Amino acid sequence: MYCKYSDHFKDECGVFGIFGTQEASVLTTLGLHSLQHRGQEGAGIVSFDGKSFHSERKQGLVGDNFNNAHILSQLPGNTAIGHVRYSTTGDSKPENLQPLFANLAIGGFACAHNGNLTNTHSIKKKLVESGSIFQTSSDTEIILQLVARSPKKKLIDKLIDTLFQIRGAYSLVILTNKKLIGVRDPFGIRPLVLGDKDGSPVLASETCALDMIGAKYVRDVKNGEIIIITKNGIKSIKPFKIVPERPCIFERIYFASPDSIIDNKTVYTYRKSLGEQLAIENNISADVVVPIPDSGVSAAIGFSQKSSIPFELGIIRSHYVGRTFIEPSQSIRQFGVKLKHSVNRSCIKNKKVILIDDSIVRGTTASKIVKMVYEAGAKEVHLGISCPPIKHPDFYGIDTPNYNQLIASNLNIKEMSNLVGAKSLFFLSLDGTYKAMGCSERNGETPQFTDHCFTGEYPIDISEILKLNSKNVTR
Ligand code: AMP
Repeated sequence: MYCKYSDHFKDECGVFGIFGTQEASVLTTLGLHSLQHRGQEGAGIVSFDGKSFHSERKQGLVGDNFNNAHILSQLPGNTAIGHVRYSTTGDSKPENLQPLFANLAIGGFACAHNGNLTNTHSIKKKLVESGSIFQTSSDTEIILQLVARSPKKKLIDKLIDTLFQIRGAYSLVILTNKKLIGVRDPFGIRPLVLGDKDGSPVLASETCALDMIGAKYVRDVKNGEIIIITKNGIKSIKPFKIVPERPCIFERIYFASPDSIIDNKTVYTYRKSLGEQLAIENNISADVVVPIPDSGVSAAIGFSQKSSIPFELGIIRSHYVGRTFIEPSQSIRQFGVKLKHSVNRSCIKNKKVILIDDSIVRGTTASKIVKMVYEAGAKEVHLGISCPPIKHPDFYGIDTPNYNQLIASNLNIKEMSNLVGAKSLFFLSLDGTYKAMGCSERNGETPQFTDHCFTGEYPIDISEILKLNSKNVTR
């Protein structure tokens, strides 16, 4: 997606695909349901019935648009892919919804993309100058254009040719008239897993989508791997130079669903360990530990268990309001926080409270909630964050904003604490974050994760974006 204020493309999304089963679009709808936390702006499905491709893309939630017999009857076929899309500032246009589909000379080609390309501008400029016409402002369309123009003969070679030209974070699920294809970028920044539903191969952003449809988890798609699924079976190719995997640490901290499994552990387990580690590093005396729901719940459980301070549901979250971030402007976002959370006074009044959340980005949520908790009669409000300060923007698809808007990039911890109105504010250390992930320490030369949000170390060149956005993005 093209983002007005920072002038680059952003997408944090969920992808899904299933091959060779009678109810492909129904199962895709269910898979997308379970990936809804990855994007609430819109959803789409493309199916193939052996002759024709069928596409439906709708703004809004999966359940509101795809849970009906009429729309599913428009998506016949044994193979389908789907996408849920995350909203960022500007461009919430229907044409940007995915999967994107094009009839290429070689046949139909549908593509669902999670991630963000970092050299879109230069590629797009060249393509436009040589006559390409773009229908969307999505970076994913560049992939379709490059595949369409590749001089190679076979589809897979056209795709590889394209992948060698694009840079950035991408997990792709692609549908053609013979193949379902999964691709993960050379660093494996965004997730992609392979599953099996009664003999039908499945690709999904997270294992929770496999659980939803009763599919078995087979394995993660590896960094730099292309999985090609046809009626003859599954083939894997690795066209890139092998580099160490660098998955985005933020999937574990915030983005993925707590019940999804990454490296044999649930995301919940990692988040609970983050909370435990936060308690080890910060000895604060208090009466209750209260999570900022839902994002802070797992870490707050870990913090409470480690510190032996009782856990209480002192903030109640309305489940009829989406993620705060999906609101496009700051004024609406602030309103959104109030809509979303209310105080459970009985747990708070006359108490020393430790609030726990997974992260602070702009500080909007924390400021509102600290205020609410004081207004409900708390004696003291401390705020613990189960990751380090987010000082650097993301360009690989999780939509953390530019430097100007990142509170930790502009204020020190004391100043942030004053701004959010807490008696104290404490963050988890970077080493503690790695420890909670099961790593002994951060490997300085090749960190085990993509952790640029905390360190400013970007594994994939972002100079093109920085140059383009020098006014907004750099300080
Ligand atoms: P803010 O209110 O701007 O400080 O944002 C912090 C809240 O947003 C926390 O409750 C986080 O759980 C959540 N959050 C953190 N990172 C993201 C992200 N990339 N997208 C959406 N929400 C996020």
